[in-house]
Amino acid sequence: MSNKIRLATVWLDGCSGCHMSFLDMDERLLELADKIELVSSPIMDAKDVPPNIDLTLIEGAVSSEEDLHKALAFRKNSKLVMAFGDCAVTGNVPSMRNMFDVDEVYNRAYVETADTQKQVPRSVVPALLARARPVHEVIHVDVHLPGCPPNADIIFYVLSELIAGRMPDPMKIGKFG
Ligand code: SF4
Repeated sequence: MSNKIRLATVWLDGCSGCHMSFLDMDERLLELADKIELVSSPIMDAKDVPPNIDLTLIEGAVSSEEDLHKALAFRKNSKLVMAFGDCAVTGNVPSMRNMFDVDEVYNRAYVETADTQKQVPRSVVPALLARARPVHEVIHVDVHLPGCPPNADIIFYVLSELIAGRMPDPMKIGKFG
């Protein structure tokens, strides 16, 4: 049986910049590959939420019903959950829409600024929640990693600490923005 840490990464309402920063670990990814088994991520083709996840990194705010469903499902199957980047930690950019009603947001996106087919989608596009929320408002979060995005050095440090069985506090060494 493998002793590798089962790692998942999740992309909610974010720009994918935090995942790009993860990839910026470059050759250190090879070092991590000896210790980590990636079981679900936007950078692979996993469709289901796998069982027995040791650590899940969540990028992005919880903005839609689909985001909420994913956050709950990964929390249920994960020993540890990390809010990965400012959008996950505080709501950051996605929460800028919170000063408007959802209908105003839909109208701005799909009617006022559309050149053709001016209509609000009622299917396929996941329904928005009333507010974009930081991850800790909907599920328990064990580790908060700030940064927009967190740089590769701090991601590597935090992952290395967690793999070693230590609980880092990235809020003390990371920074927002
Ligand atoms: S924290 Fe910054 S880099 Fe990460 S998803 Fe949000 S906007 Fe993008």
